[in-house]
Amino acid sequence: MSQIQLNAFFDFCRVKVMKQSYDQEKKLVTMTINPDKRYDPVCHHCQQRGAKIHSYHERMVRDLNCFDAQTVLWIGYRTVKCTTCGNTVEELDFVDPGKRITKRLAQYLLFLCKVMTSKEITKLSSLGLENRQSHS
Ligand SMILES: [Zn+2]
Repeated sequence: MSQIQLNAFFDFCRVKVMKQSYDQEKKLVTMTINPDKRYDPVCHHCQQRGAKIHSYHERMVRDLNCFDAQTVLWIGYRTVKCTTCGNTVEELDFVDPGKRITKRLAQYLLFLCKVMTSKEITKLSSLGLENRQSHS
């Protein structure tokens, strides 16, 4: 599996995949995604471009499984000094600020909610986020 290039699944705007790894034992894909420096950060409140960078952060979110492996994204992101909104988080098209799952995973789970019970969904998606918080 480590031979498979997964980057095509992570073709998000204004970011690039820095690293990918696969833990065979845990069946866990880990993607490290950082802002693409060719693009100016965008304020997530007002969508204004070109705000100055205030600080750099990192957080983990769950994404759709890659094949049968759970997938986590370590996302490098920035807070920006927006001239209109003040200090805010930059806009990322695949995850909302403060959310622990990607938009596409949220959409998938929302779809499953219509056809399955929450217990079945939890089992299926193994949303065991609490055990994977320590990275550094
Ligand atoms: Zn703004």
